[in-house]
This record gives sequence, C-alpha cells and structure tokens, in this order.
Amino acid sequence: MGGFDKLIGQQRPVRMLCNALRSEKLPHAFLFTGEDGVGKATAALELARICNCHETGFRRHTKIPGNEKPVFSACGKCRSCIKTERGVHPDIHRVSPEGGYIRIDRIRSLYDRLALKSDAASIRTVLIENAQLLNKEAGNALLKILEEPPESTIFVLTAPDAGDLLPTIVSRCRQIHFNPIPQKEMTDYLVSNMDLSRDNAMIVALVARGSLARAIDMAEADWLNYRNFIIDMLVRLPDLPASFRHVFAEIIASDRDKLEGVFEIMKNWYRDLAVFLRSPDKIYNHDLTDRVKAAARQIPADLIIEKADAVVKAENAISGNANHRLCLDALMAKLAQH
Ligand SMILES: [Zn+2]
Repeated sequence: MGGFDKLIGQQRPVRMLCNALRSEKLPHAFLFTGEDGVGKATAALELARICNCHETGFRRHTKIPGNEKPVFSACGKCRSCIKTERGVHPDIHRVSPEGGYIRIDRIRSLYDRLALKSDAASIRTVLIENAQLLNKEAGNALLKILEEPPESTIFVLTAPDAGDLLPTIVSRCRQIHFNPIPQKEMTDYLVSNMDLSRDNAMIVALVARGSLARAIDMAEADWLNYRNFIIDMLVRLPDLPASFRHVFAEIIASDRDKLEGVFEIMKNWYRDLAVFLRSPDKIYNHDLTDRVKAAARQIPADLIIEKADAVVKAENAISGNANHRLCLDALMAKLAQH
C-alpha cells in the first residue's frame, strides 16, 4: 500500500491534497513550497500514484457514490503503481535541474511530449522539482503551457519559496506549504526506521532542523561519530602543535562532500558555547552538555564569537571557490587560539 501516510508531520498539506482529490476537480497546477527534505517530492509522486492507480486511487473513489471519506492511497500492486515505483510510468514526467538550471530545451521537450496523446485512463502528472531553478526563458515557456494546460494533466512544481518563482507562474498554481517536520515526529521516525537510540535520534532531529532528508543522510553516514570526532578536534586544537592543525585541515579538505556538514557541526558547537551560559537548555549538542559547559567556561565570550565568525567566513570563501586548503589552514589557526 502507499498513501500520504508516508509523509511525516505534514497533516495540513495532506488534508489540503485529500480535499483537492475529494472535490473531484483537481487544479491544473500545484506549487509545493518548503525547505529541502520535508516531503514535497514524496507528496508529488504520491499524488501521481493515487491519480493513476487502477485499483484504489482517485478514479475509483470518484466513482463510488456516498463514499464521503475515502482513504486516498495507491494499491502499490497494479501495473500503474509498479511502473510509477520503477520510475517508468509513461504519463508521469519528472523535470529536474541539470547543471544548476532547468533550461528551455527541457521545457520544450516536455511540451512536445504533452502534445502526444496519453493513455485515456491516466491523469498525466508533471513534476517540476526545484522550479526556482527554471531560467527566465524556461520559466516563460512553462508559463505558456500553464496558461493553456493540456487536458487531464496536473503539474506539481516544488520550490523553497513562492517568491523564488515568476509571480505569473505562482498565480496559476494552488500553493501548498510544507512546514519543517516537528522534532517529535522526526525523532519517532528515526527511532523506528533508522535504528537510532532515542537520545541519538533526538540530537539528529534537532540538528537536521526539520528536514527528514538531512536527518536520514546523517543517520546513514554515522553522523554522530563524525560529529564527535570534529568536536574532539575543536576542543583539542589549542593544545596541539601546528603540524596537527595541518593534518586536521587536510582530513577535512579531503572529503568535499562532507565539508558543508563539517561547517555545520562547527557552527553548532560555537553556537552552543555562546548560548550555554545563558540558556543551557537551548543547546543543540545536549548529549555533550558537560563538554559544552567546560569549553564555554574556558574560552572568553568574545573569542567564541570570533571563532564562530571565522567558520562562517571560511565557509563563504570556499563556496565562492577560494582555495580549500588555504582557507582551512587559516581557519584552523584561528580556532586554535586560546
Ligand atoms: Zn495501484
């Protein structure tokens, strides 16, 4: 079985989608907004599955008179559901960015495909992920399609914020906002599905800040152990010889995929030191309260702020293509200060 129950902590968007399905008159286009990893694409695919399922989906429910509260879910077993699962359903089209943008040729080829006849039983679904990355020409081309939408076709656009899109596109869509996933729900999910202890799940949920995708990545990458290693190094840096700083910089620089996560761990650590003396209950790394307490008392408050600033500066410089090693060496020198 499949249904919107795959989504965690998104009761309101699910209610809005079920209402739209129940009304029997689906809008031509939805815009799902919200941060990465909160379930927008999952909801869009589920909508596509439900609309096209031969057994339990939308079409069937619309045919049952007096069925006031149908449970909208796809059967997961019919031909349509299996094709959707495998990503080969001929009437479910996904458009995603390539090279940082969605370019006009992608929208043109979508237009050509939509001009072909679809299976009469299908509700074609077009999922445009990260629609904020439509470049100007592509955005205008999509607008033309939305102005005269083909029959039996639903568009679902996803984006962090409606303000990131052409207002003329937004006005053609029914917007549904997905909130960050509440910590409690995320913790429960991680305990049941990712084999984390409740304590560890709480920390991951806290640091993932509402994004389930981020939380799952962290759980799979054994993030807690990695975080412990980084924090160990941060605590010990001031007492280690300079050669160790270079080794640490090298370790961090060697895995570029992890770099963003390392900066996140560092920022959270110095943030915790800064807030601990006033609000000890507000720290992120609450399993490390003793270490936070000791470090917060040891490092002068203004130096904590300077170190936090240095992390942000290094992160910005590296995302602006500065030399990784040079930036990290300079950062380590700062973080090693007493
Ligand atoms: Zn099905």
